[in-house]
Amino acid sequence: MTGWMDTHCHLCLLKEEQGSTLEVMQRARANNVHRVLDVSTGKDNWRCVLDNVLVFDDVYGAIGVHPTSEAVYAEDDWQTMAALAAHEKVIAIGECGLDFYHAPERECGHQYERFERQIELAKQLNKPLIIHTRNSSPQTLAVLRDVGKGLVTGIMHCFVEDKETAQQALDIGFYISFSGISTFKNAALVHETMSYVPLDKLLIETDAPYLAPVPYRGKLNEPAYVTQVGARVAEIKGLPIDVVAAQLEINARCLFGI
Ligand SMILES: [Zn+2]
Ligand SMILES: [Zn+2]
Repeated sequence: MTGWMDTHCHLCLLKEEQGSTLEVMQRARANNVHRVLDVSTGKDNWRCVLDNVLVFDDVYGAIGVHPTSEAVYAEDDWQTMAALAAHEKVIAIGECGLDFYHAPERECGHQYERFERQIELAKQLNKPLIIHTRNSSPQTLAVLRDVGKGLVTGIMHCFVEDKETAQQALDIGFYISFSGISTFKNAALVHETMSYVPLDKLLIETDAPYLAPVPYRGKLNEPAYVTQVGARVAEIKGLPIDVVAAQLEINARCLFGI
């Protein structure tokens, strides 16, 4: 059977808990997870992500600044980011976006500037964006439309919104990625949205070390568990698991060119 790709995890944050990225990757391979996208959250882990993509053939990187990153970004940092993002195994820019969960929008003005810079970089490098949006989907989609101008695509990661919001993201050419939340019994809205999103526009992820899927809920998450999300897609779509795996593989190839 085709392997799975975990399109969003944080190996560097996981390492702080697990100790060994090699062991994490060995467990992923043993579970038929054949590619992993290691996503940075800010300048604290850019170099770590780069190290991982150089060490492991099956690890790819995303370089960017999370909307809630607490670091200060000077012009030098943006230049470093652009240089790292140009590496051939860095296949996406992110994660970036808007997050008004921890503070109201009026206190998050700086998030817009950071987000717009990363959209411009994605356009310049012709690489997809990994979008994080929390309590902010109308604003996030508006920025993607206004600044992206149809010239950039990407993934709405860890998607938990309704199908109308999913459709707006699909309309601007974005893929929708579901996490372990889709395996939770009480996630009715996510199940409805997963059922709505066409299989050829859908991707899966762990967001490890967070959000472990059932039956690992509450434990530390890791890329090996993305198979649980794949199984959930098959169940919700009423399709054989190998059909789902094969289509998600095509989706990843189309989006990332890998
Ligand atoms: Zn995120
Ligand atoms: Zn993340």
